This record gives sequence, C-alpha cells and structure tokens, in this order.
Amino acid sequence: MQIRNKLTYQFVGIVASVLLLATLTIFVLFAEFRERDFYIRLNEKAIATAKLLVDENDVDAALLKLIDKNLRGVLPQEKVIIFDSSGKEIYNTDDEKKIKVSKELITSIRLQKEVHLKQNDFEMLGLSYNYNNNNYIIVAAAIDIYGLRKLKFLSIVLLVVFLISIAAVYFSGWIYSGRALEPISKVVREVDSISVNNLNARVGEGNGQDEIALLAKTFNKMLERIEAAFNAQRAFVGNASHELRNPLSVIRGQLEVALMKPRDKKEYIETLESLLEDIKHLTIISNRLLSLAQVSGVGLIDPKNEIRIDELLLETREELLQSTPEYNINISFETSIENDDSLLFQGNERLLKIAFFNLMENGCKYSPDHSCLVDIGAEKENIVIRFSDKGVGIPADDLKNIFEPFYRGKNVIDRKGHGIGLSLVDKIVRLHGGSIAVDSTVKKGSVFTVKLPVT
Ligand code: ADP
Repeated sequence: MQIRNKLTYQFVGIVASVLLLATLTIFVLFAEFRERDFYIRLNEKAIATAKLLVDENDVDAALLKLIDKNLRGVLPQEKVIIFDSSGKEIYNTDDEKKIKVSKELITSIRLQKEVHLKQNDFEMLGLSYNYNNNNYIIVAAAIDIYGLRKLKFLSIVLLVVFLISIAAVYFSGWIYSGRALEPISKVVREVDSISVNNLNARVGEGNGQDEIALLAKTFNKMLERIEAAFNAQRAFVGNASHELRNPLSVIRGQLEVALMKPRDKKEYIETLESLLEDIKHLTIISNRLLSLAQVSGVGLIDPKNEIRIDELLLETREELLQSTPEYNINISFETSIENDDSLLFQGNERLLKIAFFNLMENGCKYSPDHSCLVDIGAEKENIVIRFSDKGVGIPADDLKNIFEPFYRGKNVIDRKGHGIGLSLVDKIVRLHGGSIAVDSTVKKGSVFTVKLPVT
C-alpha cells in the first residue's frame, strides 16, 4: 500500500474514532436527558392527580376525569390509573385499556416505591403514595412523541454530520498527505531519471533543512562517490588501453619493416629478439593491470596465510635479481625486532610479493647506483619495512600523486615505466590493513615506509 493511502486511512481512522465517540456521547446523553425529563413530567402528573383525588375531599373520580379531559394534551396519550391500599382500582383514564397493570406490578411498586418500565410505545411510571395511613399506587403512562421525535432528528443530524466529516477528512487527508509526500515523490522522480549517461546530475535539496533534504543530500553524496568511481574506472580503462597500445604499435611496426623485403638470418634473429623484449614488456604491463584490477575490486584478501615477512623479502629480492642482475638490494634487520615471531604476518603472499617487488625495483631503477636498502623493524603493533635509495628523489608536486594509477613523475620521464606499480602497492598494503608513507628529497633519494599491523 502506498504511504499516501496509509497516511490517509490512518488519519481518517483517528478522526472517525474521535467523532464516533463524540457522536455517541451526545446521543446517549440526550437520550438519557429525554427519558429523565419525561419521567419527571410523568411523576408530576401522577402526584398532581393523586393529590386531587386523594387529598381533596371535594373532588371525586368522575370530576377529576372531567378536569383531566379538559387538561388533556399536557402529555401525549396520557393515562393515569390509581389503586387504593387493597389494590382496588379507584381511578383510570385509560378508556381504551391500552395499559395493563398486573398484580405483580402493583406489589413491586409498593415494595420499590418507584418503578420505571415500558409497555408497547408507552413509558410508564409506577409510584407508591401515602396519605392518611393509606397507601395508594399511581401508574402514569404516556408516549413521549415529541421527545422521541427530537431524538430521531438528532440521530439523523449526528449521522449526516459524521458521514460528511469523514468524507471531508478523507479528501483533506488525501490532499494533505499528497502535499507532504510530494518532495519525496520529486526525489524519486529525479533519482529515477539518473543513469550512467548523466551521473553528474544531482537531486534538488529543497529547503536544505528537513528530513527529505537530508535524504536528497545523502543521495547526492552517494552520486558523487559513484560518479568519482565511474570516472576513475573510465580513466583506468583509457590509460590501460593506452599502455597496451604503445608496445603493440611498436611490435606491429617492427614486423611491417621486417616484412618489407627478404632479409638475412641475422636480421631476422635481431628482429625476433627485439620482439621478444617488447612482448616481455607487454606481459609485465598486462600482469600488473590484472593485479591492479584484482585488488581494486576486492575488500578481502584471499587466500590468507601466515607469512614470515623477512623470508618473503629475501625471496622477492632473489626474483628481482634474477630478472635484473645488475640491481643491488641489501636487507638489514633493526634491533627493534625481539624475535622471529614478531615478523609473522597474516596476509596474501602473492600480493605482498608484488608490492615488495615494485618498491625494491623502483629504488634500484631510479638511483644511479641501482641500489636499494631494505630495513626490517618492529613497532608495538606493526611490522615496519623501509625501502631507501639514494636516487633521483621525487619533487614535492609529484609526491601527492605518485599513488594514483598511471601517474608518472616528471623526474623519471626518461626512464621506462607505466605508473601502475605504486598504486598497486598502495592498494595491496591497504587491503592488508597497513599504510604506506614516502619521504623524499630531490637528487638525494627516497624512503618508502610500509607498516603492516601485527594480527
Ligand atoms: P613507474 O615506476 O612505472 O613510473 P610507479 O607507480 O612505480 O610507476 O611509480 C610512480 C612514480 O613515482 C614514478 O613514475 C616516479 O615518478 C615516482 N617514484 C616511485 N618510486 C620512486 C623512487 N624510488 N624514486 C624516485 N621516484 C620514484
């Protein structure tokens, strides 16, 4: 059910309950008032008749009836019947015999002194009246035509007012809830119109203060994040294809030149060797891109094993030296390491090796002596690994960008590279709950500090 309908029904429900309670209270109070008022009038009539008949010696039943006939109309269809102490009827104005007074009724009136009851449309009052040690029973009855008519009219008025009020409340509730919910519907329409093609669109924030404005602001913040992620993704795809296209164009060019005319065996071997070099280069790029894509999307490291960080660093060093033997990597242990166990770390061996490889490779690649020093130390809650070199250093302008994918510093334009390594390192370290910081001075060297939390 729509919130608009729900609100309207709830509103109508509440108002209907209050109105019904008020209507019933009015009706019941009026009905009681009419009945009480009518019995008072019956009582007055009964006492007046008894007084005339019993107290006044000069008035007998026949005379009283005559008086009564002339006064008729005080109460509609009024009947008065009086019995003496022995139960004998001494006065009766009910000529049509519409009222039946049984012996039991007389007894009960004598006992209770006053009895109210109904017979057909008549409301009857039975009274016990004492005079001169005689006990008389007076029964007065009449039909409250005017009172009942008023009660009926009142009930119709109340019902009509109730129905009209409910209809009015329903329509006003429907309009009011529609108006109250309109800003939400507006937000829904606006959000609905946003797609990949117009991610820069934003939802209107209304007055900027109420809950709906808060909702719109939250949507807008989410849209900002999605847009940023989309742009980063687009840039990544653009950069990645650019990085792959370059070596592929070189390979294609080499092949076209080689095929232009027949060549001797030596030339073919040279071309093939050069192609092999380019393909190795291409493989490195695609592997790094793949790794970057893998670590960018995941929030979990899988599989996770217990690793000895120093051993992993030694293994990585061996691999790097195998591919580039002219590099020089020294690994040293700081005194802060108390025992071997403090170098145990829960992590993904393959990913951490990629990170260490990149940091060692960069240190060697960007220093004239192709050397990198790796210090392993421990803090209270971290394993600390520092990769230092005495190389070209990084200008302050570049420092804030070097962890962005495909960013290459101005200091290394003349050297080969793709700008993928450090962004990969950063993601891998963060995926392991760690942090990476860099301290660098141009022409003096750089220090990359990786901290991995001991788990
Ligand atoms: P690449 O080395 O392929 O350019 P990276 O992502 O590994 O890509 O590094 C990004 C940039 O950071 C490099 O282009 C370079 O400007 C700078 N950089 C990284 N490591 C060093 C270092 N040890 N010394 C000087 N500059 C570095």
